[in-house]
Amino acid sequence: MRRIVQIIFVCGSLTRACFAQGPAIRVLPWDEHAAAVSLTFDDSRPVHLDVAVPELNKRHLHATFFVIISKLTRLDGWREAQAEGHEIGNHSLTHEHVSALTQASEELQVEDAKAFLDSNFHANTIIFAYPYSELSPGLSFWVQRYDFLARGWQGSSDSPYISAEDLPDWYNLPSQATNTDTDVAVYKDWIDKALAMHAWTIVQIHGIGDPSTGFDPIPTPVFLSFLDYLRSKEANGLWIAPMGTVGAYLRGQKILETAKTEVESGGEKWVWELPVPFPSGVLLRARILAAHSKSRPRIYQGKRELHASKSGVYTISLDARELMIRPAP
Ligand SMILES: [Zn+2]
Repeated sequence: MRRIVQIIFVCGSLTRACFAQGPAIRVLPWDEHAAAVSLTFDDSRPVHLDVAVPELNKRHLHATFFVIISKLTRLDGWREAQAEGHEIGNHSLTHEHVSALTQASEELQVEDAKAFLDSNFHANTIIFAYPYSELSPGLSFWVQRYDFLARGWQGSSDSPYISAEDLPDWYNLPSQATNTDTDVAVYKDWIDKALAMHAWTIVQIHGIGDPSTGFDPIPTPVFLSFLDYLRSKEANGLWIAPMGTVGAYLRGQKILETAKTEVESGGEKWVWELPVPFPSGVLLRARILAAHSKSRPRIYQGKRELHASKSGVYTISLDARELMIRPAP
C-alpha cells in the first residue's frame, strides 16, 4: 500500500514537473496579432459593390458579405469581390422573420441558399448570419448542420468582444452594428477596446450613405473615417480579416488546445478531429516547448518536419489532424 502511494506521489510530481513550463503547444492568438476585427456587410446591397468593396480594396482590407439569395443581383460583381479576397456568406434565401418560417422552410432558408452560393461562387459556403439576428431552435439546427460559424446579435454573453481564452457559441457569435446617428468616435472606441482586451469583435454594416442604400445607413464620411482608423491600427497589431478567417483560426486553436496526447516510442503524439463542416487549409501559429529540455524538439506532421521561424514560431496545419513532438537528441 505504501509503495502504491509512493508511486502515485512520484507520478503526480512528474506530471507537475512536465507541465510546470505550461502546455507543450501554445497557439498564438489571432494569427500572431494583438486583436481582431471582422467587418460584415448584410443584405446584398448594390452600395456594397459600389462603395464598400472599392474603399476596402484601396486600403487592402478584406471583409465578409452576407447575401440574401432573393436580393442578389450583379452576380459578376460579387464574384469579382470574392476573387479579390472578400468572403461571401449565407444570409438566407429570402430573409424572413423566424415567426414566419415553417419547419420545412427553415431548412430551405439555410440549405437552398447554401446550394446556390456553392454552385455560383465555386466555394463551400459554411458561414451564416441570422436574418434580423433572430434565432429559433429549428433554424439553429440547420445552421449547425450546414455551417461552422454563425453570426447572431449579442451571442450567449452580453459582450460583443470575444477573448481568445473564451469558448464562444460558434453558432451565435456576438456582433455590434453601425447606424445612422452614431459618431465615428464610438466606432474608434470599439477598435481601441478590442486592442486593449486582446479580443475579436464582429461589426455589422447595412446601408452606407442615403436611406435608399439599406437599413440604418452609416453616413459615407463616417464609414470612410472608420476604415481609415482600422487601417491605421494595423500598425498596433490589429488583424482585420473576414469572419470565417478569424473564426476558423479561433475554432482551430480550441481544437488544438483540447487535442488528445499519446506517448509513442520516441515522442508525444497529438491527435485531433475536425468538426464537419470545417474549412480546409487552416494554419495555426504556435510555440512548442519541450519538457525537460532547453533545446528545440523536432516536430513532425506525418512525414513532414516543421521548422520554426527565426522567432521560434511553428506553422501547424490543422488538416493533418496530428502532430508529433520528439525531444531533441
Ligand atoms: Zn439582414
